Amino acid sequence: MKTIGILGGMSAASTQLYYAELCRLTREKLGGLHSPQLLIRSLDFAEIEALQVKGQWAEAGEILNREAKALEKGGADLLILATNTMHKLADQMMTGVEIPLLHIADATAKAITSVGLHNPGLMATAFTMEQSFYTDRLVQAGLAPVLPNDADRAETHRIIYEELCKDIVTDDSRTAYVAITNRVKDAGADCLILGCTEVGMLLDQGNVDMPVFDTTLIHCAAALDMALE
Ligand code: GLU
Repeated sequence: MKTIGILGGMSAASTQLYYAELCRLTREKLGGLHSPQLLIRSLDFAEIEALQVKGQWAEAGEILNREAKALEKGGADLLILATNTMHKLADQMMTGVEIPLLHIADATAKAITSVGLHNPGLMATAFTMEQSFYTDRLVQAGLAPVLPNDADRAETHRIIYEELCKDIVTDDSRTAYVAITNRVKDAGADCLILGCTEVGMLLDQGNVDMPVFDTTLIHCAAALDMALE
């Protein structure tokens, strides 16, 4: 089994989900006492978020690049970046790194196209929904993403940073998120991307009325497949 390097902590709430899911999937696939070979580098999200808010993306990219190199040097055979938003900096992160990065948008697009769906709703941070680095990648894969309206994008973003990234899960926010999924469906979505690694804390196939693609779970499954190749 190859060693998966996880660059996480963005936020710590979802990096814990990655660890739990990778352990669960490995037990399911290999049985017995098997567990995944992992190197987890968990950053202080307060520093990263401050750079995001100030628009200092190049500085954030330098941090990701330094940490990707450290994971490679530490023995990782492949890398996953455990956040959708920070894939904005994927190229800068991988500069001078030889091991492959499993891109979260590519893994997600593949999961959607493989079942013949085309119009995924996208619930994510404002960065991921409103800048082109992520939606362009989906379009390149043949998909036509459907975004929530202005107010729903703002509320989706607010709940991620003010609640989910702090491990706060409330019924009110779950209700608000479910209502947003219904409006995205009415706007033409045929499925839904949980395009932030924390959104699965509120939404899943049990409360969304269309096929759900949770980027955290998809990313873990694709990484384990790659590690077992
Ligand atoms: N984990 C989130 C994502 O998947 C948001 C936090 C971040 O900005 O990295 O986009």
